Amino acid sequence: MKERNDGGIKCSEIVEVLDDYAEGILNAETTKKIQNHLRSCENCANFGARYVALLGLLKEQGPHVLI
Ligand SMILES: [Zn+2]
Repeated sequence: MKERNDGGIKCSEIVEVLDDYAEGILNAETTKKIQNHLRSCENCANFGARYVALLGLLKEQGPHVLI
C-alpha cells in the first residue's frame, strides 16, 4: 500500500487514530484532518468505513459476535 499524505495526515497515522476517531474523542483539528484524508484516500476510506462499521456492530451486539 502506498503511503499518502492527504489532508495533512499520513495513512500510517490514520490507522493509529482510527480507534479514537470512531469513538469521537479526538479534537476538532485532528477530526477534520482525518475526514479530509478519507475523502481523498480510497484505501483509508475503505478501511475506515469497514472499521467503524465493525466497531459499531461490536458496541451494539457486544463482544460475543467475535466468537
Ligand atoms: Zn490513506
